[in-house]
Amino acid sequence: MRRAGRLVYDVLDSVARQAVPGVTTGALNAGAERMISDAGATPLFKGVVNNQASFPFPAALCISVNDEVVHGVPGERLLCDGDIVSLDCGVRLNGYCGDSARTVAVGTAAPDVLRLLEVTEATLSLAIREIRAGRMWSEVALQMQRLVEAAGFSVVRDFVGHGIGQDMHEDPKVPNYCDRKQLRSDFRLQKGMTLAIEPMVTMGSHAVEYTGPGRWTVVTRDGKYAAHFEHTVVVTETGSEVLTAGG
Ligand code: MG
Ligand code: MG
Repeated sequence: MRRAGRLVYDVLDSVARQAVPGVTTGALNAGAERMISDAGATPLFKGVVNNQASFPFPAALCISVNDEVVHGVPGERLLCDGDIVSLDCGVRLNGYCGDSARTVAVGTAAPDVLRLLEVTEATLSLAIREIRAGRMWSEVALQMQRLVEAAGFSVVRDFVGHGIGQDMHEDPKVPNYCDRKQLRSDFRLQKGMTLAIEPMVTMGSHAVEYTGPGRWTVVTRDGKYAAHFEHTVVVTETGSEVLTAGG
């Protein structure tokens, strides 16, 4: 999983540097697909089917721009100065998976939009710091939700993190908020557990809907911008280790 995670990091790092005004989301995806196949890995998202979409996901990356939250389909869209773009990458290498995402500004984004990116990344960092074996996940999730809401933003409810290992989506579900319903499926963090933690944060309401090609793309209903940061981590006795980090 460390090797898969490192490849995901390298792909995202490369794609983030290419996310400049005038490039298409399709070109970013093409570069990522080459890197993944050159490394002998397979992209996890390509070919995924789900209930509401009319065709299998056609790309290695999910690329979601501005009010798009997740699952944006790469294509002819040109990135513009001031856009924000969420890049989500998953690979399987030697039978094990890594999954990570980050949102970057294209050129110069507005100060309040940059704050959305900072708060979302800080929410993921907070979770990584607070994780340790023996703790209930809901304690971490509640802190994540409080950080987001104290900044005046909202946590997306319709999508959550997940266990990950030989498959991309394994149990348990890993929500970024805490409510009565979530508490019923709360779980205790255990040493060796591998989780994809992925806060999705919006500047307005957390309500989302589906649009775009094949109805894949999840957008905010109010059209306000969204950000998404994700790491695959392993729970340790004393904390956690990020598997999708560089260095
Ligand atoms: Mg992901
Ligand atoms: Mg994920």
